[in-house]
Amino acid sequence: MNIILLGPPGGGKGTQAKKIVEKYGIPHIATGDILRDAVAKGTELGKKAKEYMDRGELVPDEIVIGIVEERLKQPDCEKGFLLDGFPRTLKQAEALDDMLKGLNRKIDVTIYIDVPEEEVVRRIANRRSCKRCGAVYHLIYAPPKEPNKCDKCGGELYQRDDDKEETVRQRFKVYMENTAPLIEYYEKKGLLYRVDGTKSIDEVWSQIEDVLKKVAK
Ligand code: AMP
Repeated sequence: MNIILLGPPGGGKGTQAKKIVEKYGIPHIATGDILRDAVAKGTELGKKAKEYMDRGELVPDEIVIGIVEERLKQPDCEKGFLLDGFPRTLKQAEALDDMLKGLNRKIDVTIYIDVPEEEVVRRIANRRSCKRCGAVYHLIYAPPKEPNKCDKCGGELYQRDDDKEETVRQRFKVYMENTAPLIEYYEKKGLLYRVDGTKSIDEVWSQIEDVLKKVAK
């Protein structure tokens, strides 16, 4: 199955993405993770992307489209894939359509996780990520077993630079301007399924499972 996860920053895409890829055994393509990795490694790509990311702005379309194009050509994507955080602009959505046409593939479903701005701000302020493996925690809803320590690898937890409140609000604004129009784009194609992202992690997951069951039929 070829799946897109759409929704605001901090709306729970990453958390639900992990559950989807585990259940369906498909690769998780998260452009934010790929970019953060490049920043951490100090590659050319990372150097270019960092300034945009730190400001809560979008990295230019050409850069991100190139990354996804390369990734989708890898053989592990033949059995399906999950796109998380891409596309984020109309231009990226159109480029994705072209890429997939070239590969004789198509999107099967776009899951839109709907969460309002205040809830996003509340959540991200409490979000902590593992420096080593990238696992994500929430100090209230999904805390680590030991303070500041990753349950999975023991790495140190930290707050992403772009998870500060001011940057989060900026990212939400960027989302409303650039990414929200994609809801209509996929709705028109008959590919959009909404889930209520204000619910608990398990409840959101159960809504997603229902959608994926419906689409798989
Ligand atoms: P995320 O982890 O998805 O919240 O992404 C973190 C940051 O990476 C975003 O605020 C953007 O600066 C950048 N980024 C990730 N995905 C994209 C994309 N599809 N287009 C442009 N910028 C992106």
